[in-house]
Amino acid sequence: MFDNLSEKLDKAFHVLKGHGQITEVNIAETLKEVRRALLDADVNFKTAKEFTNSVKSKALGQDVLTSLKPGQLMVKLVKDELTELMGGEAAGVDLSGNPSVILMAGLQGSGKTTFSGKLANFLKNKKTKNPLLVACDVYRPAAIDQLHVVGEQIGVSVYSDRENSDPVAIAKAGVDYAKANGHNVVIVDTAGRLAVDELMMKEISNIHNAINPNETLFVVDSMTGQDAVNTAKSFNDVLDFDGVILTKLDGDTRGGAALSIKSVVNKPIKFIGTGEKMDAVDVFYPSRMADRILG
Ligand code: GDP
Repeated sequence: MFDNLSEKLDKAFHVLKGHGQITEVNIAETLKEVRRALLDADVNFKTAKEFTNSVKSKALGQDVLTSLKPGQLMVKLVKDELTELMGGEAAGVDLSGNPSVILMAGLQGSGKTTFSGKLANFLKNKKTKNPLLVACDVYRPAAIDQLHVVGEQIGVSVYSDRENSDPVAIAKAGVDYAKANGHNVVIVDTAGRLAVDELMMKEISNIHNAINPNETLFVVDSMTGQDAVNTAKSFNDVLDFDGVILTKLDGDTRGGAALSIKSVVNKPIKFIGTGEKMDAVDVFYPSRMADRILG
């Protein structure tokens, strides 16, 4: 994960090797390399620029840890800045409702159905949670089948209604079913299309208004780089979602989505998907990810 970025940042820090202190000159050279590494990882230009400006002002500021060598200091400052960029603290999911309703949104193929299953499994393993999955993709019968397969695999009930072509009605009925059957979490999987279009946005917004979820999670494929960030923007404009789920981080992704999304939509990444299996999911901790990037 992010191997290229790690390598390039490491190279950037080498610039400071042998220097006794940080100066305007050597820091400018280092940060030029850092910025290049971020841009190569598909971080957008504005974010990369703000990032290096912030590191620069801290490095040249008064309150730096002078006991550290310039190289070590720069690693620390970049690590802290990466953590901040990715959201600072880990962000939880609101499970206070009874039932807590969690709405999944995102493009087709982003990993919504898979993550719905992973989240249900994750919560089920907490013992106090008895989740229900609700299938609202009325356009692709295979999508309903897929959710049933997932539900069976993890031992979680699935609500669907193949006779009904209205996703809003299904979502509402799913929540009612959960209430009547003692499910304290409802995870609503929705239809996505290949690109952002008005109809999909209207539908997800109608579902959102009808079930008033505790959490709306935007699911996005980390391999799609800057497109991921633009899609996040479009969904956030309509849904004002609560968090991002970044999938497929096990792939050969450069890292731009993970690094830019928080600064663009100001919503935290809550979970990451790291494989196709139901247990390939992790709570997202910005500081751990920063540690991983810097090795
Ligand atoms: P949806 O259309 O948004 O519901 O997407 P799916 O859940 O059907 O996922 C699309 C494809 O991506 C499927 O083949 C999944 O197995 C795969 N997938 C989902 N999440 C991950 C992940 O974290 N890592 C990998 N490698 N594949 C994933």
